[in-house]
Amino acid sequence: MLKSFKPTFMLNSLYDLDPDQLKTVGIRNILTDLDNTLLPWNNKLADAKTNAWLQKMRQANIQVIVVSNNSHARVGMALEQLEMPFVARAMKPTVKGIREALTTYQLLPAETVMVGDQLITDVYSGNRAGLRTILVKPLVTSDGWNTSINRFIEQYIFKYLKKHFVGLDWQSSLTPAANQKR
Ligand SMILES: [Mg+2]
Repeated sequence: MLKSFKPTFMLNSLYDLDPDQLKTVGIRNILTDLDNTLLPWNNKLADAKTNAWLQKMRQANIQVIVVSNNSHARVGMALEQLEMPFVARAMKPTVKGIREALTTYQLLPAETVMVGDQLITDVYSGNRAGLRTILVKPLVTSDGWNTSINRFIEQYIFKYLKKHFVGLDWQSSLTPAANQKR
């Protein structure tokens, strides 16, 4: 049970992901959460950094697909200028949206990673769908009210994870997040 919340990697930011590192660990596809992972939740405007990162991934043939719990209209609006593929109403923490992305875009779970800023939605659903997962720090520290509740619960889960896994900590590159203590 607890293992379902453990991210494979913990990164300071989605933008630390680099094509060479991803290829080294056999990842060709990125499923990413939208709010506070790809774009700040309260200001969904892509900046130069977002564009440059997406460009880098495109050039390296790494697919980036947004998997968000938001509605089709909201996600579509946020991603309009970026012309990115997405799955809306993903219903994380269930595996529905992730499965939909795998099927629609014909992705192999072994070559796909789920990235997000929340353990109990992004990491949990990614793990349950059989993907490797990356927990990132939220882009802005404030949250919507529903996320604040999740954060409160997450603090407790994180404490348990830290007790059971050695070296679970933020990294700036893809280093596996921790080994099991027992
Ligand atoms: Mg998020």
